[in-house]
Amino acid sequence: MNYKDYIRVIPDYPKPGIRFKDITTLINNGPVYAAAIEAIKQAVSDKQIDLIAGPEARGFIVGAPLAVSLGLGFVPVRKSGKLPGEVVEASYDLEYGNDKLAIHKDAIKPGQRILIADDLLATGGTIATTINLIRQLGGEVIGAAFLIELGYLEGREKLDGIDVFSLVTY
Ligand code: IMP
Repeated sequence: MNYKDYIRVIPDYPKPGIRFKDITTLINNGPVYAAAIEAIKQAVSDKQIDLIAGPEARGFIVGAPLAVSLGLGFVPVRKSGKLPGEVVEASYDLEYGNDKLAIHKDAIKPGQRILIADDLLATGGTIATTINLIRQLGGEVIGAAFLIELGYLEGREKLDGIDVFSLVTY
């Protein structure tokens, strides 16, 4: 399957010079969406995984079906202020200013093996912060899986040598 045929590239979004990779066209197609999740599942099938974690919001689109398909639980990594229980939080820098991500403290137990899932690896800032949160709770990050990797941004260099799988690379 050539997944790139189903990913729409929108020039100059959200600002001039950026070529935005839009996955809504891929997930709009049932068989292609299912095949993409199945391909990620196969790629991680050699790993012993306890839980899938995915950052808001597009990480849910990849992580939740992957978790269900593997028969595992899912841990939502959310923007600060969205989770009702006790959380751990970490800040990360955005192009302008910064933002905070949070996980429920009781969502991950020490020693649990976590696979992170997201739609797209760009600079790696979001996933580096997610790794930091999981480790604060004693979880072990055993890999990260993406639909798309923007290889030219070298995000994987920020991910501390964890195993990275991406379905397509630009
Ligand atoms: P990072 O923290 O720089 O790796 O950015 C990753 C986040 O930015 C991902 O969760 C994406 O949702 C979002 N993102 C950055 N560039 C694109 C794009 O071209 N298409 C879709 N999402 C993008």
